[in-house]
Amino acid sequence: MKLLEVRNVEKRYRRSDEAAVKGVSFDVNEGKILALVGESGSGKTTLLRILAGLEQMDGGEVLLDGKVVAEAGGGVAPEKRGIGLVFQHHALFPHLTVDKNVLFGVRKLPAEERRRIFDELMELVGLEGFGKRFPHELSGGERQRVALARALAPNPRLLLMDEPFSSLDARLRHAVRDETRAILKKRGTTAVFVTHDTGDALAVADGIVVLRKGVVQQTGAPPEVYHAPANAYVASFFGTCNFLPFNSLGQPGGARVTCHVGPPGLGNGESGLWVRPEDLELVSPGAGGLAGVVETVSFGGGYQDVTLRCGTDTSLKVEVRHHAPFMVSVGEEWEVVAKVGRRY
Ligand code: ADP
Ligand code: MG
Repeated sequence: MKLLEVRNVEKRYRRSDEAAVKGVSFDVNEGKILALVGESGSGKTTLLRILAGLEQMDGGEVLLDGKVVAEAGGGVAPEKRGIGLVFQHHALFPHLTVDKNVLFGVRKLPAEERRRIFDELMELVGLEGFGKRFPHELSGGERQRVALARALAPNPRLLLMDEPFSSLDARLRHAVRDETRAILKKRGTTAVFVTHDTGDALAVADGIVVLRKGVVQQTGAPPEVYHAPANAYVASFFGTCNFLPFNSLGQPGGARVTCHVGPPGLGNGESGLWVRPEDLELVSPGAGGLAGVVETVSFGGGYQDVTLRCGTDTSLKVEVRHHAPFMVSVGEEWEVVAKVGRRY
């Protein structure tokens, strides 16, 4: 069941030559988590603010539960949309204790009801006993969970989050995003979150919308956008991707590089293959792979990221994520072959 429908949304700020959002459309089914991902300035926050009712749009419409809540120049007031918000820096009220922060949106409900909501949410986010602490007495991860609990307290139909993990350091970030997904899934909450971090999007979302300069590049499940990118931009945005022109692969049957993402020649005039570094491996010369010389090696612990110069004129740079059993060094000659068949 579709909960949110975004149809051809257009937004141009005054005093701005270029539209911030250009004909964006996507749906979110009930209980699903959608990530809007893109570089800084791609229109993510603008879209989120339009969904929340904090920004007017110039064209298109937004439907919630099949009813229009926003259209050009108007819409349902933000507080009547049943939407919960988590902002970039969690923005807890610093002078209010955790219980007052969490219950802020439901402060008009009877005390008994508030108590029930509070207990349920604190159990959900794993913060029982934290009610009387102030925000400055919490860790970054705890503050994020309080912000989530506060947004969920009024039981919103839709939760919107803007860069919810960006203020956390790398280690905490991974834990908090897994936790956030688990909490939303446990409650069956439908959510849209914005991030510039492809790792956040891949790990947390059920569906991803990739934006570039206000235009949707691709919509799909995480493995789809990663393994079957719609164009060269999406392929590279989600991580290193080698483009291997067919003419670099020698005669048919000569070079075995058959594992690729996306269609041959994706978004590029030439025909060739897009291949991720982890889908390639190094074998000894003479195996019939793509021959090359190791140019750089970066040790990553359980793997080495290796760059080779390949092809007869060594003009082709190929990146391979190489997993032990053996280590490779700069200057060595290896051949590159595909690890598995096409993944997606
Ligand atoms: P993102 O969240 O993806 O970084 P934004 O939605 O914040 O992107 O911004 C999209 C574009 O709109 C940017 O070019 C930005 O400069 C512009 N923009 C955002 N807010 C305003 C504003 N209030 N007035 C004018 N331009 C704005
Ligand atoms: Mg933003």
